[in-house]
Amino acid sequence: PPVPPSGGDPLAPPQTGSTDASVLLSARGIRKSFGTNEVLRGIDFSVRRGEVVTLIGPSGSGKTTVLRSLNGLETPDGGELAFDGGPTIDFSRPLAKADRIAMRDRSAMVFQQHNLFPHMTVIENVVEGPIRVQRVPKAQALAEASALLDRVGLAEKRDAYPFELSGGQQQRVGIVRALALKPDLLLFDEPTSALDPELVGEVLHVIKELADEGWTMVVVTHELAFARQAAHEVLFMDGGVIVERGAPGQIFTNPREERTRRFLDRIL
Ligand code: ADP
Repeated sequence: PPVPPSGGDPLAPPQTGSTDASVLLSARGIRKSFGTNEVLRGIDFSVRRGEVVTLIGPSGSGKTTVLRSLNGLETPDGGELAFDGGPTIDFSRPLAKADRIAMRDRSAMVFQQHNLFPHMTVIENVVEGPIRVQRVPKAQALAEASALLDRVGLAEKRDAYPFELSGGQQQRVGIVRALALKPDLLLFDEPTSALDPELVGEVLHVIKELADEGWTMVVVTHELAFARQAAHEVLFMDGGVIVERGAPGQIFTNPREERTRRFLDRIL
């Protein structure tokens, strides 16, 4: 299991001892229907350690469902998921408790809306998961949370309540809350789409810093400028499949697929 960074930058990802280029996550043939609506029709991709993968595509194409399938918020109907060093999770069979725990523990999600507990202060929100779920000693959890809040410019807000913060500050707390769990993988579900335009930049800045620190992340986003800057690989989804994948330089300047081109023409 990951161990906390030792005395270094609190934004740095957990050290795991794995080689840098190792595949952290691989997803194969992921399928999911809601009733008769076939939302994912066989999704294959992998994420290497330290890599930023962005998922782009039209609304309703299945991006959020992919993300939620990676950490157990949705259970696919078929396909496989494997985290390095862990067992293969086969969705065509009933999941074992260990499978659910593996999915929950390997990744942490940052939602579109921050989902902070309104009756808890900022720091209480951040330490809730580490203390309650991971049984981290309270003093240690508080110290680590303080360091993280400091690092994203929120030190003076530690005892504020969520309603006292701007949307951008709330979302930065949401990010800190995910980091405090020391996951191997950060999942971002349109982290800026609920924000006023002038607040988007500060949140993308934090995410970009995390990417530069070497965090492994999968980001669903409409911010194509961000995808272009931060991503190692871009996956373009439409109709429940990955239509095209590649380096941002290729996808954004020279898409191979007509559907990708049409999508980019509409929103660029
Ligand atoms: P995207 O993130 O690309 O906008 P989503 O993954 O959110 O796409 O949704 C894909 C499709 O799945 C949509 O048609 C959506 O209505 C449907 N869907 C998503 N979640 C649910 C759910 N919990 N119940 C029923 N339908 C859902």
